[in-house]
Amino acid sequence: PVAAPLSANAQRQSGFATDRVGGEIAIHAVNKFFGTNKVLDGVDLTVGSGEVVAIIGPSGAGKSTLLRTINHLERVDTGIVAIDGELIGYERRGDALHELKEPAIRRRRAGVGMVFQNFNLFPHLTALENVIEAPVSVAGVPRDEAIAQARDLLARVGLADKADAYPRHLSGGQQQRVAIARALALRPKVLLFDEPTSALDPELVGEVLDVIKELAKSGTTLVIVTHEIGFAREVADRIVFMEGGRVIEIAPPERLFSAPTQTRTREFLAKVL
Ligand code: ADP
Ligand code: MG
Repeated sequence: PVAAPLSANAQRQSGFATDRVGGEIAIHAVNKFFGTNKVLDGVDLTVGSGEVVAIIGPSGAGKSTLLRTINHLERVDTGIVAIDGELIGYERRGDALHELKEPAIRRRRAGVGMVFQNFNLFPHLTALENVIEAPVSVAGVPRDEAIAQARDLLARVGLADKADAYPRHLSGGQQQRVAIARALALRPKVLLFDEPTSALDPELVGEVLDVIKELAKSGTTLVIVTHEIGFAREVADRIVFMEGGRVIEIAPPERLFSAPTQTRTREFLAKVL
């Protein structure tokens, strides 16, 4: 079951409103090993266009690895990961699939933005330069146009006055908001967040979650790995609980948190709630 796309009205209420369609993720029968360690074990998950899914679970469950397979930062050993029916790391030639190389993969990844725990900004570039880097170098957007769009994005994440600041002069929360603006600059259909607030001081978590909440109303498909259970409950259409490389349970938040069907989900929630 997938959530219906947001109504045009709901989209207009968001500062990040988009008229784009697509962004459906299909993960089917995915297995992945690191050496002899099976870190993804028969994972099936479909995320609908515009849906917001939060992935929770203990450390080592395979959450980051699963997220990274979606934009082909990790290759799966068997199974399929597709976005709008397209395999990101592969191209079909006749009957065979051929793995693509950089920079072809980087171009295709443009549709899938990613925000990491540790921001991963380019330290030698200003906030504005971080945001325009991919549009200019990957998408070939003219520099003036990219700058105008970057200023707009920085304003939307509340950083209009920080365009010329270097990352080292920004707080963690500000750096993460720049990272979100950078991820949005290629107008992705899908945005992936891997514990976006885990590296932040507690008082800075809220400003980043507020931006993500705004994005959640925009019609962009969001997959968010998070330890912030209250936030997941508020923002997600569905929660995925993972453990030991498997998807143990998927349900809307009100069901998963109040009436989990699996013992392992109950045990995990007893520890974190
Ligand atoms: P989570 O994000 O849920 O904490 P991860 O996806 O990071 O889990 O890790 C799942 C398992 O894969 C863990 O056992 C971890 O040690 C292992 N792992 C992750 N990345 C690598 C890697 N690059 N090489 C080897 N093992 C890895
Ligand atoms: Mg992780």
